[in-house]
Amino acid sequence: MQKKKYLENFGELKKIKENKNIIIAIGGCMMQEEHITDKLKKSYSFVDIIFGTHTLHKVPEDIYKTITKKEKIKDIIDIDGEIYEGLPVKRSNNKQASVTIMYGCNNFCSYCIVPYVRGRERSRKPEDILNEIKELAKEGFKEITLLGQNVNSYNGGNNYKFSNLLKDVEKIEGIEIIRFISPHPKDFTDDVIEVIKQSKKISKLLHVPLQAGSTNVLKAMNRKYTKEQYLNLINRIKKEIPDVVFSTDVIVGFPR
Ligand code: SF4
Repeated sequence: MQKKKYLENFGELKKIKENKNIIIAIGGCMMQEEHITDKLKKSYSFVDIIFGTHTLHKVPEDIYKTITKKEKIKDIIDIDGEIYEGLPVKRSNNKQASVTIMYGCNNFCSYCIVPYVRGRERSRKPEDILNEIKELAKEGFKEITLLGQNVNSYNGGNNYKFSNLLKDVEKIEGIEIIRFISPHPKDFTDDVIEVIKQSKKISKLLHVPLQAGSTNVLKAMNRKYTKEQYLNLINRIKKEIPDVVFSTDVIVGFPR
């Protein structure tokens, strides 16, 4: 349904292109799917550039080629791309910033496309993340949200885990609030709970996706935890952090 709507919107782009001399570039997860790009090339030939999730860093080069050589470009590489640092980020405000700490996902929940289009988990180096946050702090940002498809399986190498990263972000002067999304319940380890408990900056509003309250449905979803394990986690967190508040995601009507 969403894909259909997405494709329908391309028709609008054609009108814009006809009225103005512009370059149309389309990118993102869906472009990693071969049948989508085939359809685009066949039915929407006015699109100049198609790029995937691992070639964002090449968009300026693609635009240059389109302008200078009038080429149609499809710039997609398969999953497990490298991490490119230093790409410009447009932030929507100057107090709160989201900082990606890892890409991809290894979990293969049965309803999710992410591992297929974003590849396996790749974590940014701790120093790159911390330097980015220090720069943000200097610019006056106060609130940081650490982002990852499975944020708490962050692996900075040499046994540097998500809890280590949280501790180091806490030390950055100027940052007052730290959040993270989305953790996976199976990776919510005690060291992370302890860091949150000790922290003066990490938000006590924790988002812990449940997805389903039935162990059978969780199994069909390939979530890798049971109802009991999820409840046990929530109780462990509540015991250590009494003022914690939870939010969650629940899929209603999962087709088995
Ligand atoms: S953990 Fe999240 S991103 Fe990864 S497969 Fe499951 S739903 Fe998708």
